[in-house]
Formats: sequence, C-alpha cells, structure tokens
Amino acid sequence: MVHFVGAGPGAEDLITVRGLKLVKNADIIIYAGSLVNKEILNNAKEGSSVYDSAKMNLDEVIDVISKGSLQCKDIVRLHTGDPCIYGAIREQMDRLDELGIEYDYTPGVSSFCGAAAALRAEYTLPSVSQSIIITRQAGRTPVPDRESIRSFAAHGATMVIFLSAGMTDKVQEELIAGGYSENTPAAIVYKATWPDEKVIRCSVGTLNKTAIENGVKNLALLCVGDFLGNDYELSKLYDKSFTTGFRQGTDI
Ligand code: SAH
Repeated sequence: MVHFVGAGPGAEDLITVRGLKLVKNADIIIYAGSLVNKEILNNAKEGSSVYDSAKMNLDEVIDVISKGSLQCKDIVRLHTGDPCIYGAIREQMDRLDELGIEYDYTPGVSSFCGAAAALRAEYTLPSVSQSIIITRQAGRTPVPDRESIRSFAAHGATMVIFLSAGMTDKVQEELIAGGYSENTPAAIVYKATWPDEKVIRCSVGTLNKTAIENGVKNLALLCVGDFLGNDYELSKLYDKSFTTGFRQGTDI
C-alpha cells in the first residue's frame, strides 16, 4: 500500500496523528527533502529505506514505489504542508492508477495555516475579507493569464502568495497595478513553524525592499491584505444578540 502524507509546515509535531502512525509503520519513505523536517524521519522504523525526492525525477519516484509495491512493502510518500497545494501529487496518483497500485491520502497542515499562526492572524475577518486567494507569481511554471496576481489584487481580498519570495519586485508591482494601495499591510513569513521561523511585517509598497534587506529568497510566504491591520467587525457567531442552531441570543 502507498500512502501520500502531508508532513505539515515544518515543526516536527505538526504532522497529523494519522500521518505519524503511517511514517512509523513504513518500510519505504520518500520525502520532499527541500521542506520536510528531517526530525520526522527519526520516527521511521529500524531498517526502513528513506529517499529524498528533491534529488529524484518523477520516473525515479514511481520506480521506487512500484518496485516496493511488488515486494508488498508499506510505502509513505511524504509531502510538505498539505499535498493538495503545489504538491505535484496528481501526476504521481495518475501513474499509480495506470500501474494499478493502490494508495490513500492523508492531509497535512499547509504552510499558509502555519503562517497565520506565526502572524497570530485570522485571514477571514468580518468586513475586511471573507476570502483567501492562494496563488503564486509566474516563474518557470507558468500561471494562466486570467489568474495573474494583478487580476486577483483587484478583489482586495486576503492573499497568500507561495513560491514567489525570490520575485518580490514583480509581486509588488503586480499587487499595486491590480489595486492594493502601497500602504496595505503585508508580511513575509519565512519557515513558518520551524525553529528558525521569521515573521517580517511590512506593507505592499515595501515588500521588495523588505525581502532584500532580510535576505529572504525562498521558503517563505508573502501574506497581503487588511487582515493584518487593526480594523474589523466582531463576528455574528459570538454576538450575544445572535441566535444560532446551538445558542439562543437576545434577539428573540
Ligand atoms: N504543499 C505545501 C506547499 C509546497 S510549495 C504547503 O501546503 O505548504 C513550496 C512553497 O511553499 C515554498 O516555496 C514556500 O513558498 C511555501 N512554504 C512551504 N513551507 C513553508 C513554511 N514553513 N513557511 C513559509 N513558506 C512555506
């Protein structure tokens, strides 16, 4: 059996209970070495084989999985954060489907959640933004034109930008061209939840300068929006006058 597992954003204890159990049972672990915390691998059982997928191509990964499956090994494919976000997991699942190899899928805590915790922030504040745009600047992997940062910026919603810390000049330009004001709050969260996590607050107009000054080029998220400011309305959920299916408010 093959298990795709989200390893969480960094801290070794932010893998799920189910994910850790699968790691402990695995005969073979293929982990994304660029961002998975190696401390998690200390849970691997004696004699297990561990591969770093950062040094492998898709064929090599599938080869390890298919040979292991033939020997009825228990295999964990460990991805950073949650595999559903920039995880390149679909192409692996499709290949396993073609080969008739069974797999399951255990989610993980994505780094955008880790970044919110690092920022002590809520992305969805009433009267500020009720939507989170997760995106990236086009790099070697293109982004469809209709999904440009510029076009998303027009919404003024909360935005979390992955894979773009080395392109903050372009990101800043696009954010402003799309409609965020220069003084919209922003933050760079480097290695959220890792022991060497860094949170650097700035504004859209100083995003590029801040990234350069702090030497951040990768392993970071760019968070943008007024959720980082101080103005918002209280929720209806805990408003004492508001009645819900669970609680009688003073409005009745
Ligand atoms: N599946 C992962 C994302 C993989 S793409 C997830 O759910 O988080 C890799 C990019 O994710 C990095 O370039 C960086 O932008 C971001 N990233 C991953 N872990 C991070 C962390 N702990 N702190 C900040 N950014 C992180």
